[in-house]
Amino acid sequence: MNTPANTLPDNAIEARGLVKTYAATKTTPEMRALKGVDLAIPRGSIFGLLGPNGAGKSTFINILAGMTRKTSGSVSIWGRDIDERRRDASAAIGVVPQEIAGDVFFTPRESMEVQAGLYGVPKTERRTDELLAAMGLTDKADAYVRQLSGGMKRRLMVAKAMVHNPPVLVLDEPTAGVDVELRRQLWSYVEALNRQGVTVVLTTHYLEEAEALCDTIAIVNRGEVVACESTQSLLRRLDSRSVVVTPDAPLFTAPDLAPFESALRANGDLVVTFKTGQAGVEQVLSAVRAAGVTIKDLRTEDPDLEDVFVSLTSDPAKAA
Ligand code: ADP
Repeated sequence: MNTPANTLPDNAIEARGLVKTYAATKTTPEMRALKGVDLAIPRGSIFGLLGPNGAGKSTFINILAGMTRKTSGSVSIWGRDIDERRRDASAAIGVVPQEIAGDVFFTPRESMEVQAGLYGVPKTERRTDELLAAMGLTDKADAYVRQLSGGMKRRLMVAKAMVHNPPVLVLDEPTAGVDVELRRQLWSYVEALNRQGVTVVLTTHYLEEAEALCDTIAIVNRGEVVACESTQSLLRRLDSRSVVVTPDAPLFTAPDLAPFESALRANGDLVVTFKTGQAGVEQVLSAVRAAGVTIKDLRTEDPDLEDVFVSLTSDPAKAA
């Protein structure tokens, strides 16, 4: 979809039916890393791509960055289709890769200038000092990169990703291996950029990081988007607990236990889910008894991200 120059796209990034298949090698079978991903990342958001290792997050980012070729489907960045307008699409995005790559022979200032040159940013429009200052690297502007700590190198990578002033910044696992204090610094810079209007996309496998920063989260699992919603609504799912009741006599349907959600498992157990902030086990049990169910056995279950994945990936039609 083309976007006229004078209007801003609603979505900073849009993927439709995105498929990536890595070809088989002698030692590895063919791998469908993305299985038809539809994703719309709203302009202005801090968007988290959350998922376990191997989910396909980096593959997605690498396609955006132009480092991996998609197999099929379409992607546009800032309204610019990556097949039809690769250069324009690239101009709209800055990508901070996962690996720390050190330009051993350059100082941070030189490294920034080289990067700006690669992107064709005219000398008068360069923001080297501003970006280095924003990342807390003014002191180190003229030091050799090999003298920087891991955290400093990572901040330099963020600064480099911003040399061409892209409206979209993508960070692949930005805080992996970064200590707590630097992590907070990085987060606050990301938030500051976002307040200036930059759409931020980050991948993480830390729920805590996504919670702290992102307004919208997509959960990716085995190459599929299994949820994409506001952080608040996702967390509401996570603050629920379940009481699992084995009834004395088999139930044929789950009783209505409103306001609690109830469901029957294939083994006949009744699962009642409640919000930890709103009710307790005692109230759930009262509701179960009031519905005429005699309890033979029971236990509680706490959700974790894994449970959310499971509940999001299982097909309710099949479970019924
Ligand atoms: P994530 O970033 O969520 O950890 P990746 O996108 O790195 O996931 O990987 C998704 C799947 O694709 C994994 O099974 C991974 O082993 C596979 N994969 C990633 N890169 C390659 C590659 N270059 N060649 C073959 N398989 C790959």
